[in-house]
Amino acid sequence: MKKYMLLSKKNLSTLVERFLKEFQVYGPTEKNGIISFDIISDWSELKLDASGVPLLPPKKIFLPPEEVLFTFKISDDNNIEIEDPLDKIKEKKRVLIGIRPCDTHGLTLLDKVFIGKTVDPYYVTRRENTIIICITCNNPTEYCFCNFTKSGPSIKEGFDLLLTDIGEFFFVEIGSERGKDIINSNLDLFQEASENDLARRDQKIREVEEKLSRNQLTSSNELYQKLIRAFNDELWNEYGRRCVACGKCNFTCPTCHCFDVYDVMELTLREGKRVRKWDACHFLSFTRVAGGEIFRKERTSRVKQRIYDKYCYPVDEFGSIFCVGCGRCIHVCTAGIDIREILKKVLGM
Ligand code: SF4
Ligand code: SF4
Repeated sequence: MKKYMLLSKKNLSTLVERFLKEFQVYGPTEKNGIISFDIISDWSELKLDASGVPLLPPKKIFLPPEEVLFTFKISDDNNIEIEDPLDKIKEKKRVLIGIRPCDTHGLTLLDKVFIGKTVDPYYVTRRENTIIICITCNNPTEYCFCNFTKSGPSIKEGFDLLLTDIGEFFFVEIGSERGKDIINSNLDLFQEASENDLARRDQKIREVEEKLSRNQLTSSNELYQKLIRAFNDELWNEYGRRCVACGKCNFTCPTCHCFDVYDVMELTLREGKRVRKWDACHFLSFTRVAGGEIFRKERTSRVKQRIYDKYCYPVDEFGSIFCVGCGRCIHVCTAGIDIREILKKVLGM
Protein backbone atom coordinates (compact mmCIF):
# COMPACT_ATOMS: atom_id res chain seq x y z
CA MET A 1 0.00 0.00 0.00
CA LYS A 2 1.20 3.50 -0.81
CA LYS A 3 1.77 6.00 2.03
CA TYR A 4 -0.73 8.39 0.46
CA MET A 5 -4.39 7.77 -0.33
CA LEU A 6 -7.49 9.74 -1.24
CA LEU A 7 -10.82 9.74 0.57
CA SER A 8 -13.82 11.47 -0.95
CA LYS A 9 -15.86 13.68 1.39
CA LYS A 10 -18.86 11.39 0.96
CA ASN A 11 -16.75 8.38 1.93
CA LEU A 12 -15.44 10.18 5.03
CA SER A 13 -19.01 10.28 6.32
CA THR A 14 -19.33 6.53 5.66
CA LEU A 15 -16.02 5.93 7.47
CA VAL A 16 -17.22 7.89 10.51
CA GLU A 17 -20.53 5.99 10.51
CA ARG A 18 -18.51 2.74 10.55
CA PHE A 19 -16.37 4.06 13.43
CA LEU A 20 -19.52 4.85 15.37
CA LYS A 21 -20.49 1.15 15.36
CA GLU A 22 -17.20 0.14 16.96
CA PHE A 23 -15.75 3.11 18.83
CA GLN A 24 -16.58 6.07 20.98
CA VAL A 25 -15.99 8.90 18.48
CA TYR A 26 -14.77 12.35 19.55
CA GLY A 27 -14.54 15.35 17.27
CA PRO A 28 -15.14 19.08 17.05
CA THR A 29 -18.83 19.98 17.33
CA GLU A 30 -20.60 23.32 17.41
CA LYS A 31 -23.10 24.38 20.08
CA ASN A 32 -24.33 27.97 20.39
CA GLY A 33 -21.50 29.11 18.14
CA ILE A 34 -18.83 27.49 20.31
CA ILE A 35 -16.65 24.70 18.93
CA SER A 36 -15.60 22.00 21.37
CA PHE A 37 -14.38 18.41 21.33
CA ASP A 38 -17.30 16.16 22.19
CA ILE A 39 -18.52 12.61 21.78
CA ILE A 40 -20.70 12.39 18.69
CA SER A 41 -23.47 9.97 17.83
CA ASP A 42 -23.87 10.95 14.19
CA TRP A 43 -21.52 12.06 11.42
CA SER A 44 -23.55 15.25 10.88
CA GLU A 45 -22.54 16.54 14.36
CA LEU A 46 -18.91 16.89 13.26
CA LYS A 47 -17.66 20.38 12.43
CA LEU A 48 -14.42 19.75 10.59
CA ASP A 49 -14.07 23.01 8.68
CA ALA A 50 -14.00 25.51 11.59
CA SER A 51 -11.11 27.99 11.71
CA GLY A 52 -8.32 27.37 14.19
CA VAL A 53 -8.91 25.13 17.18
CA PRO A 54 -11.72 24.50 19.72
CA LEU A 55 -11.35 26.69 22.81
CA LEU A 56 -10.62 23.77 25.14
CA PRO A 57 -7.80 21.53 23.90
CA PRO A 58 -8.09 17.75 23.45
CA LYS A 59 -5.96 17.11 26.56
CA LYS A 60 -9.30 16.87 28.42
CA ILE A 61 -9.95 13.59 26.55
CA PHE A 62 -6.73 12.10 27.92
CA LEU A 63 -6.31 14.01 31.18
CA PRO A 64 -9.86 14.90 32.33
CA PRO A 65 -10.25 18.21 34.23
CA GLU A 66 -11.28 16.14 37.25
CA GLU A 67 -11.14 12.38 37.67
CA VAL A 68 -11.49 9.84 40.44
CA LEU A 69 -8.28 7.81 40.61
CA PHE A 70 -9.79 5.27 43.00
CA THR A 71 -12.46 4.86 45.64
CA PHE A 72 -11.85 3.18 48.99
CA LYS A 73 -14.08 1.65 51.62
CA ILE A 74 -13.50 0.05 55.01
CA SER A 75 -15.69 -3.05 55.16
CA ASP A 76 -17.52 -4.29 58.28
CA ASP A 77 -14.64 -6.71 59.00
CA ASN A 78 -12.18 -3.78 58.69
CA ASN A 79 -10.68 -4.78 55.36
CA ILE A 80 -9.94 -1.96 52.93
CA GLU A 81 -11.58 -2.37 49.53
CA ILE A 82 -10.17 -0.30 46.70
CA GLU A 83 -11.86 0.16 43.36
CA ASP A 84 -9.68 1.32 40.46
CA PRO A 85 -11.45 2.72 37.36
CA LEU A 86 -8.59 1.62 35.08
CA ASP A 87 -10.35 -1.54 33.86
CA LYS A 88 -13.33 0.53 32.71
CA ILE A 89 -10.99 2.99 30.95
CA LYS A 90 -9.34 0.04 29.16
CA GLU A 91 -12.68 -1.11 27.75
CA LYS A 92 -13.29 2.12 25.85
CA LYS A 93 -11.87 2.11 22.31
CA ARG A 94 -11.98 5.58 20.85
CA VAL A 95 -11.38 7.62 17.71
CA LEU A 96 -10.52 11.30 17.84
CA ILE A 97 -11.17 12.88 14.46
CA GLY A 98 -10.65 16.48 13.44
CA ILE A 99 -7.78 17.32 15.77
CA ARG A 100 -5.44 19.94 14.29
CA PRO A 101 -1.67 19.46 13.87
CA CYS A 102 -0.83 21.89 16.73
CA ASP A 103 -3.01 19.92 19.14
CA THR A 104 -1.66 16.61 17.84
CA HIS A 105 1.82 17.89 18.60
CA GLY A 106 0.51 19.00 22.01
CA LEU A 107 -0.38 15.36 22.74
CA THR A 108 3.11 14.26 21.67
CA LEU A 109 4.48 16.73 24.22
CA LEU A 110 2.12 15.51 26.96
CA ASP A 111 3.39 11.98 26.22
CA LYS A 112 6.86 13.12 27.31
CA VAL A 113 5.38 13.97 30.72
CA PHE A 114 2.96 11.09 31.27
CA ILE A 115 4.75 8.31 29.38
CA GLY A 116 8.27 9.29 30.36
CA LYS A 117 10.31 8.69 33.49
CA THR A 118 7.04 7.93 35.23
CA VAL A 119 4.14 6.34 33.41
CA ASP A 120 0.63 7.47 34.23
CA PRO A 121 -1.60 4.39 33.69
CA TYR A 122 -4.79 6.41 33.15
CA TYR A 123 -3.22 8.69 30.55
CA VAL A 124 -1.31 5.95 28.73
CA THR A 125 -4.38 3.72 28.53
CA ARG A 126 -6.44 6.51 27.01
CA ARG A 127 -3.66 7.30 24.52
CA GLU A 128 -3.28 3.66 23.49
CA ASN A 129 -7.04 3.28 23.12
CA THR A 130 -7.49 6.32 20.91
CA ILE A 131 -6.98 6.47 17.15
CA ILE A 132 -5.84 9.94 16.09
CA ILE A 133 -7.18 11.30 12.80
CA CYS A 134 -5.68 14.72 12.33
CA ILE A 135 -6.80 17.35 9.81
CA THR A 136 -4.37 19.87 8.36
CA CYS A 137 -5.30 23.40 9.35
CA ASN A 138 -6.76 25.31 6.41
CA ASN A 139 -7.81 28.54 8.04
CA PRO A 140 -5.67 29.81 10.95
CA THR A 141 -7.12 32.48 13.21
CA GLU A 142 -5.62 35.81 14.22
CA TYR A 143 -4.22 34.09 17.33
CA CYS A 144 -2.36 31.22 15.66
CA PHE A 145 1.45 31.16 15.50
CA CYS A 146 2.32 27.50 14.92
CA ASN A 147 4.83 28.65 12.29
CA PHE A 148 6.93 29.96 15.21
CA THR A 149 6.66 26.77 17.28
CA LYS A 150 7.05 24.51 14.21
CA SER A 151 3.90 22.56 15.06
CA GLY A 152 1.74 23.46 12.09
CA PRO A 153 -0.02 24.00 9.77
CA SER A 154 0.97 20.40 9.04
CA ILE A 155 3.05 17.84 10.91
CA LYS A 156 5.13 14.74 10.27
CA GLU A 157 4.22 12.53 13.25
CA GLY A 158 1.80 11.93 16.09
CA PHE A 159 -1.19 10.86 13.98
CA ASP A 160 -2.56 7.59 12.67
CA LEU A 161 -4.05 9.33 9.63
CA LEU A 162 -3.55 12.90 8.49
CA LEU A 163 -6.23 14.35 6.22
CA THR A 164 -5.84 17.45 4.09
CA ASP A 165 -8.78 19.01 2.31
CA ILE A 166 -7.83 19.35 -1.36
CA GLY A 167 -11.32 20.09 -2.70
CA GLU A 168 -13.50 17.14 -3.59
CA PHE A 169 -11.19 14.76 -1.72
CA PHE A 170 -9.22 14.53 1.48
CA PHE A 171 -5.59 13.70 0.83
CA VAL A 172 -4.71 11.00 3.37
CA GLU A 173 -1.23 10.46 4.80
CA ILE A 174 -0.70 7.26 6.77
CA GLY A 175 1.23 7.83 10.00
CA SER A 176 1.20 4.44 11.73
CA GLU A 177 0.42 0.73 11.47
CA ARG A 178 -2.93 1.51 13.08
CA GLY A 179 -3.64 4.02 10.34
CA LYS A 180 -2.73 1.40 7.75
CA ASP A 181 -5.14 -1.06 9.41
CA ILE A 182 -8.00 1.46 9.17
CA ILE A 183 -7.43 1.76 5.45
CA ASN A 184 -7.04 -2.00 4.95
CA SER A 185 -10.34 -2.58 6.76
CA ASN A 186 -12.11 0.04 4.65
CA LEU A 187 -10.41 -0.36 1.28
CA ASP A 188 -13.68 0.23 -0.58
CA LEU A 189 -13.64 3.87 0.64
CA PHE A 190 -10.06 4.82 -0.32
CA GLN A 191 -8.16 5.15 -3.59
CA GLU A 192 -4.49 5.68 -4.26
CA ALA A 193 -3.27 9.27 -4.53
CA SER A 194 -1.19 10.45 -7.48
CA GLU A 195 1.91 12.67 -7.53
CA ASN A 196 -0.38 15.45 -8.70
CA ASP A 197 -2.59 15.01 -5.59
CA LEU A 198 0.52 15.18 -3.41
CA ALA A 199 1.54 18.42 -5.11
CA ARG A 200 -1.97 19.84 -4.49
CA ARG A 201 -1.71 18.90 -0.81
CA ASP A 202 1.69 20.58 -0.48
CA GLN A 203 0.38 23.68 -2.24
CA LYS A 204 -2.54 23.86 0.28
CA ILE A 205 -0.05 23.74 3.15
CA ARG A 206 2.06 26.49 1.56
CA GLU A 207 -1.05 28.69 1.29
CA VAL A 208 -1.70 28.33 5.04
CA GLU A 209 1.98 29.00 5.81
CA GLU A 210 1.67 32.18 3.81
CA LYS A 211 -1.34 33.27 5.92
CA LEU A 212 0.57 32.48 9.13
CA SER A 213 3.62 34.47 8.08
CA ARG A 214 1.51 37.62 8.52
CA ASN A 215 1.93 37.40 12.30
CA GLN A 216 5.57 38.44 11.71
CA LEU A 217 6.87 36.06 14.33
CA THR A 218 9.58 34.01 12.72
CA SER A 219 11.13 31.00 14.38
CA SER A 220 14.23 31.68 16.43
CA ASN A 221 16.96 29.47 17.89
CA GLU A 222 17.96 32.25 20.26
CA LEU A 223 14.85 32.23 22.44
CA TYR A 224 16.27 29.96 25.14
CA GLN A 225 19.45 32.00 25.64
CA LYS A 226 17.60 35.31 25.44
CA LEU A 227 15.10 34.15 28.08
CA ILE A 228 17.94 33.17 30.41
CA ARG A 229 19.41 36.66 29.99
CA ALA A 230 15.97 38.30 30.52
CA PHE A 231 15.29 36.62 33.87
CA ASN A 232 15.45 39.85 35.87
CA ASP A 233 14.02 42.08 33.17
CA GLU A 234 11.45 44.80 34.00
CA LEU A 235 9.10 43.29 31.45
CA TRP A 236 7.94 40.61 33.93
CA ASN A 237 6.76 43.33 36.33
CA GLU A 238 4.82 44.95 33.51
CA TYR A 239 2.94 41.72 32.75
CA GLY A 240 2.66 40.85 36.46
CA ARG A 241 0.78 44.12 37.03
CA ARG A 242 -1.65 43.34 34.20
CA CYS A 243 -2.32 39.65 34.91
CA VAL A 244 -5.31 38.94 37.17
CA ALA A 245 -4.23 35.35 37.89
CA CYS A 246 -7.45 33.82 36.56
CA GLY A 247 -5.67 30.71 35.26
CA LYS A 248 -7.59 30.64 31.96
CA CYS A 249 -4.33 30.49 30.01
CA ASN A 250 -3.35 27.36 31.95
CA PHE A 251 -6.63 25.56 31.52
CA THR A 252 -6.92 26.21 27.79
CA CYS A 253 -3.29 25.36 27.02
CA PRO A 254 -2.87 21.96 25.31
CA THR A 255 0.45 21.35 27.08
CA CYS A 256 -0.19 22.67 30.62
CA HIS A 257 -0.48 19.51 32.65
CA CYS A 258 -0.24 20.39 36.35
CA PHE A 259 -2.77 18.84 38.66
CA ASP A 260 -3.64 18.60 42.32
CA VAL A 261 -4.54 15.38 44.11
CA TYR A 262 -6.80 15.28 47.15
CA ASP A 263 -8.91 12.83 49.12
CA VAL A 264 -12.62 13.26 49.76
CA MET A 265 -13.96 11.39 52.79
CA GLU A 266 -17.59 10.58 53.48
CA LEU A 267 -18.91 11.70 56.87
CA THR A 268 -18.84 8.08 58.10
CA LEU A 269 -15.04 8.22 57.66
CA ARG A 270 -15.26 4.68 56.30
CA GLU A 271 -15.24 5.45 52.59
CA GLY A 272 -13.97 8.04 50.20
CA LYS A 273 -12.20 8.73 46.94
CA ARG A 274 -8.92 10.13 45.64
CA VAL A 275 -9.41 12.83 43.04
CA ARG A 276 -7.06 14.43 40.54
CA LYS A 277 -7.96 17.90 39.32
CA TRP A 278 -6.26 20.34 36.93
CA ASP A 279 -4.31 23.05 38.70
CA ALA A 280 -2.85 26.33 37.43
CA CYS A 281 0.57 27.85 38.18
CA HIS A 282 -1.09 31.28 38.02
CA PHE A 283 -3.04 30.54 41.21
CA LEU A 284 -1.64 31.83 44.50
CA SER A 285 -2.32 28.44 46.08
CA PHE A 286 -0.23 26.58 43.50
CA THR A 287 3.01 26.82 45.47
CA ARG A 288 1.48 26.74 48.94
CA VAL A 289 3.22 24.09 51.04
CA ALA A 290 2.83 22.70 54.55
CA GLY A 291 3.12 25.49 57.14
CA GLY A 292 1.40 27.94 54.80
CA GLU A 293 4.52 29.16 52.98
CA ILE A 294 3.87 30.30 49.39
CA PHE A 295 6.87 30.37 47.09
CA ARG A 296 5.44 32.50 44.28
CA LYS A 297 3.42 35.14 46.11
CA GLU A 298 3.82 37.87 43.46
CA ARG A 299 1.90 37.70 40.20
CA THR A 300 5.07 38.76 38.42
CA SER A 301 6.80 35.55 39.47
CA ARG A 302 3.81 33.49 38.31
CA VAL A 303 3.62 35.15 34.89
CA LYS A 304 7.35 34.61 34.51
CA GLN A 305 7.11 30.98 35.66
CA ARG A 306 4.56 30.17 32.98
CA ILE A 307 6.63 31.65 30.17
CA TYR A 308 9.82 29.91 31.31
CA ASP A 309 7.86 26.69 31.73
CA LYS A 310 6.86 26.91 28.07
CA TYR A 311 10.10 27.93 26.40
CA CYS A 312 12.98 27.19 28.78
CA TYR A 313 12.53 24.54 31.49
CA PRO A 314 11.01 21.88 29.19
CA VAL A 315 13.94 22.31 26.80
CA ASP A 316 16.19 21.21 29.68
CA GLU A 317 13.86 18.43 30.82
CA PHE A 318 12.31 17.09 27.61
CA GLY A 319 14.35 18.59 24.80
CA SER A 320 11.56 20.74 23.37
CA ILE A 321 9.54 23.86 24.04
CA PHE A 322 6.06 23.22 25.42
CA CYS A 323 4.12 25.67 23.29
CA VAL A 324 2.42 24.65 20.05
CA GLY A 325 1.39 28.14 18.97
CA CYS A 326 -2.35 27.44 19.20
CA GLY A 327 -3.00 30.98 20.48
CA ARG A 328 -5.67 29.91 22.98
CA CYS A 329 -3.97 31.74 25.86
CA ILE A 330 -4.10 34.94 23.79
CA HIS A 331 -7.74 34.41 22.87
CA VAL A 332 -8.93 33.85 26.45
CA CYS A 333 -6.69 36.16 28.49
CA THR A 334 -8.77 38.36 30.77
CA ALA A 335 -6.02 41.00 30.76
CA GLY A 336 -5.42 40.99 27.00
CA ILE A 337 -1.91 39.61 27.41
CA ASP A 338 -0.51 38.31 24.12
CA ILE A 339 2.27 35.76 24.57
CA ARG A 340 3.60 36.71 21.10
CA GLU A 341 4.23 40.25 22.36
CA ILE A 342 6.28 38.84 25.23
CA LEU A 343 8.25 36.67 22.79
CA LYS A 344 8.90 39.62 20.51
CA LYS A 345 10.12 41.71 23.44
CA VAL A 346 12.45 38.96 24.67
CA LEU A 347 13.74 38.38 21.15
CA GLY A 348 14.10 42.11 20.51
CA MET A 349 11.86 41.95 17.42
S1 SF4 B 1 1.27 28.74 25.64
FE1 SF4 B 1 -0.53 29.62 24.61
S2 SF4 B 1 -0.07 29.46 22.44
FE2 SF4 B 1 1.38 28.12 23.49
S3 SF4 B 1 0.40 26.09 23.46
FE3 SF4 B 1 -0.20 27.07 25.40
S4 SF4 B 1 -2.16 28.08 24.95
FE4 SF4 B 1 -1.21 27.58 22.97
S1 SF4 C 1 -5.31 34.31 31.24
FE1 SF4 C 1 -4.19 36.28 31.31
S2 SF4 C 1 -4.94 37.26 33.19
FE2 SF4 C 1 -5.52 35.09 33.34
S3 SF4 C 1 -3.78 34.13 34.42
FE3 SF4 C 1 -3.34 33.92 32.24
S4 SF4 C 1 -2.05 35.70 31.77
FE4 SF4 C 1 -3.06 36.15 33.74
